[in-house]
Amino acid sequence: MNCGTYPPALIDSFGRKVDYIRLSITDRCDFRCVYCMPEDVQFLPRDELLSLEECARIVKAFVSLGVKKVRITGGEPLVRKDALWLFNEIGHLPGLNELVVTTNGSQLEHQAEALKRAGVRRVNISLDSLDATRFRRITRVGDLGKVLRGIMAAKQAGFESVKLNTILMRDINEDEAISMVGFAIVQGIDIAFIEEMPLGQVNYARNSTYVSNEETLKLLRARYDLIGSVETTGGPARYWRVPNTDTKVGFISPHSHNFCESCNRVRVTSKGELYLCLGQENKVNLAPFLRQFPNDDRPLKEAIVNSMRVKPKGHYFNLKRAEPAVIRFMSHTGG
Ligand code: SAM
Ligand code: SF4
Repeated sequence: MNCGTYPPALIDSFGRKVDYIRLSITDRCDFRCVYCMPEDVQFLPRDELLSLEECARIVKAFVSLGVKKVRITGGEPLVRKDALWLFNEIGHLPGLNELVVTTNGSQLEHQAEALKRAGVRRVNISLDSLDATRFRRITRVGDLGKVLRGIMAAKQAGFESVKLNTILMRDINEDEAISMVGFAIVQGIDIAFIEEMPLGQVNYARNSTYVSNEETLKLLRARYDLIGSVETTGGPARYWRVPNTDTKVGFISPHSHNFCESCNRVRVTSKGELYLCLGQENKVNLAPFLRQFPNDDRPLKEAIVNSMRVKPKGHYFNLKRAEPAVIRFMSHTGG
């Protein structure tokens, strides 16, 4: 294995340093968001999923190679049985600066405190509507009340930051942009708007629901004095401050503001596929390295180091194309 530099670092063939992984610990979810998965989604057979011990080995291998930030995601990570074991196992790993989680919030009412104790620093909670009927329509099955109680529990638990992630969709919830920011202000938390991406085949035309962040920003500026900020959380969001509040408004704009040039991350699915780009097919299957070498992490680390050669330059989302950019849904790759 050639780790090249000391301390070890993962550098791809375009010179970008990878120090952030997103690990999906399940493709299962208690919601069925319309943009994320089909209603009759077929989940992976359970025996194909990585065990939580294997997930921990993957995280430890990446951290030993210089990864500083780990996001646990899914599917819905907090519906995986014993997920807390994993958070406890990696939460205080030397070298890991930030353990964060992305969740739909449905389980936070009961898990927020334990996650905080395990070492989770920041929590992103997806929330697309404050109207219970609409929320149900977007998530197909979700209960808004439960998520709101989860948000309160997260605030109470004292994470460094609680941030809402919102996807606005034309004629579905675009009119809630201002009220979503208002809610974030009242709660003293942050919010980021994410542009919908063409991941997986859905039963509507994605370009008919797409709302650009540019449009959202314009809409918000009619109500709020937003001040540009250079703050970053190590991700692709660009932030604006709402004066006299504790709230930052972020924009993650994979279409209108492609951020591939500074991409610092890779994703691992719940069955151990290491995807080098959210919007491309390049991948390395890590499962064989875990299973053929249960007591030796060197082959696993070598595979990770070598994967840097196939990290593509970027994604090429094109709203004009009818087909999705990639066939797999976000719930498979891990958001
Ligand atoms: N279940 C958790 C949740 O909803 O936060 C974590 C996994 S979910 C796949 C992570 C994020 O991906 C969510 O914020 C969701 O809104 C976003 N997402 C899913 N499908 C998307 C798509 N097609 N385009 C943009 N974001 C998407
Ligand atoms: Fe589940 Fe999250 Fe996908 Fe919604 S966005 S279906 S909550 S994985």
